[in-house]
Amino acid sequence: MKALASGRGRLPIAVNGETLLCLAAHALLWPQGRVLFVADVHLGKAASFRAAGVAMPGGHSAHDLDRIATLLDEHEAAHLVILGDLIHTRESYTTALDQKFRQFRARHADVAMTLVRGNHDRHAGDPPAHWGLQLVAEPFELGPFTCLHEPLLAVPPARTEEQHHTIELAGHLHPSLRLTTARESVALPCFWQHHRGIVLPSFGSVTGSSPISIDIGKSAVVVAGQQLHHLGSRG
Ligand code: MN
Repeated sequence: MKALASGRGRLPIAVNGETLLCLAAHALLWPQGRVLFVADVHLGKAASFRAAGVAMPGGHSAHDLDRIATLLDEHEAAHLVILGDLIHTRESYTTALDQKFRQFRARHADVAMTLVRGNHDRHAGDPPAHWGLQLVAEPFELGPFTCLHEPLLAVPPARTEEQHHTIELAGHLHPSLRLTTARESVALPCFWQHHRGIVLPSFGSVTGSSPISIDIGKSAVVVAGQQLHHLGSRG
């Protein structure tokens, strides 16, 4: 692997002639359209564990909504697109979460918000109308982007060709890249850039990750705290 670029807090990457900003906060910004993308927030995960009798500490949902709020302000975003898995399970819809989300929504009343339903959202059921979300199924086309929850990595080549003109943005995988020495290794969450687009790291504070690889022609922007590094294969 070789380092292509690095940045603090943010790192621009060029995809199909568009400039996107990878943010250390695990979000992606399209500055030209003032669109902020996040994936896999998994609100109410702790409540879901507690409903199953496991004493998982709470407070993550409020914290994560605050993190989104800060990003919307900081980047003056006009549109928030959630690439699936906003809600963890049906048990995640608590009164406390409803209250918190209403506050969050009121604070950003002028921001358009779209949820591309993910597998968790489909099982949990749609959020209430007063959350003010545009609810859509994948694929959701927005400017030069095809917004998905699950990336189309397994799609046969023929269909891949058809879709080649758009930039695919997705989540679902919770990607991380494992950096390994002879003695140790560490998995860092990452933006995985593949031949059709980008898979975002999971946004939620209590989500796991799964390792991806960067083969020839693919790369990843790994996040270590506030630091971002764009790593490519040596091929
Ligand atoms: Mn997920």
